[in-house]
Amino acid sequence: MARILITGAAGFLGSHLTDRLLGEGHTIVGVDNLSTGSSHNLSHLRNEPRFSLEERDICHPFDPGHVDYVFNLASPASPPEYLRLAIETLRVGSAGTEAILEIAHKYGAGFLHASTSECYGDPFEHPQVETYWGNVNPIGLRSVYDESKRFSEALTMAYHRYRGVNTHLVRIFNTYGPRLHPSDGRVISNFVMQALRGEPLTIYGDGTQTRSFCYVSDLIEGIVRLSRSEEHLPTNIGNPTEFTILECAQTVLDLTGSESPLRFEELPQDDPTRRKPDIRKANRVLGWEPRVSLREGLELSLDYFRECLNQQGADPAGAGWRASRLAPGEPLPLTHPPVGATRGNHYEPVPVRDGAHNPAGTAI
Ligand code: NAD
Ligand code: UDP
Repeated sequence: MARILITGAAGFLGSHLTDRLLGEGHTIVGVDNLSTGSSHNLSHLRNEPRFSLEERDICHPFDPGHVDYVFNLASPASPPEYLRLAIETLRVGSAGTEAILEIAHKYGAGFLHASTSECYGDPFEHPQVETYWGNVNPIGLRSVYDESKRFSEALTMAYHRYRGVNTHLVRIFNTYGPRLHPSDGRVISNFVMQALRGEPLTIYGDGTQTRSFCYVSDLIEGIVRLSRSEEHLPTNIGNPTEFTILECAQTVLDLTGSESPLRFEELPQDDPTRRKPDIRKANRVLGWEPRVSLREGLELSLDYFRECLNQQGADPAGAGWRASRLAPGEPLPLTHPPVGATRGNHYEPVPVRDGAHNPAGTAI
């Protein structure tokens, strides 16, 4: 069994990846500065001897001891959060990613970096294929995220080419599910929380822009397969079924039975008009394709968002949810039970309709 470092472990995706790899028997060293994540996401692991979480900023080099594999997920990810943490976002993609690549190099560990569909910017090619170089405004508001990720891809390829590190690059398309922060401003969490509260759903622009939404269990399966593959160039992982934002809002209203009206607001600067992954490479190289539709994934997420609503009752801005810092050596608070796709430490890809996933490998 492997000893695995996960940066951003307290975040939405990092906590699900932690559950998945613990469930396979590995030991996980989690690090997170809790800037956008929360130890609530990991509270069910407080008594798990194969898991530890250390609060630290990965931009400051550190030595976790020998590790066999490193997943680098640390970075603000939602547009309002990376605009709030603009300099920090640029730093984590540059200095932070370099510090983690150095760890992989030192221990001869494999390395997977969480990149993004934002590398394609507002794309001229549709759907987006990995060989497309993108259309990014390098000095626009979103550039703090887009260019941070593009730089981290370049850095990762350089460590692969010049230092021989076994690197992998996943370009993640909009992913959602339980543990998505209820107030981090992404479209799924906004719409579901607004619908459950009976508040207007905020449509930015005219709502004709598109996104393709991937459920978290599909995404984690794709990432794990990529980490065990021989593929070193960027690989798209996402669900290719494309929705307009208006269609997404209508689906949320249907599923929640909410009568919330729509409220149209200004479109943020450089908001991409279209987004849909070409997943032929992931399918060919990893034997991967998503299995969970938007409707199914939203159904699987509703209990979690309802629970968030209950917990936020006295705290509508969600500040208490976020304020979960750890003192050195302090155990994880047990305030939030396992949700969604996890049962204790056993990760259950959900739902699998036509036969089980066929992992590309069984051990890291
Ligand atoms: P998230 O905000 O829930 O998780 C990111 C985690 O990184 C948080 O726990 C945060 O506290 C931590 N972090 C941020 N800066 C750090 C630093 N300097 N040092 C240590 N920890 C730090 O977001 P997520 O959706 O789980 O995203 C995880 C990764 O996947 C990110 O790198 C993101 O860019 C990438 N990604 C996610 C999506 C998506 O749709 N969820 C899409 C594209 C890319
Ligand atoms: N969006 C919206 N209303 C919201 C939040 C987002 O209309 O309350 C739109 C946003 O302008 C974008 C899309 O939904 O076109 C996806 O936004 P998100 O922040 O989830 O992710 P992005 O793909 O832009 O990084």
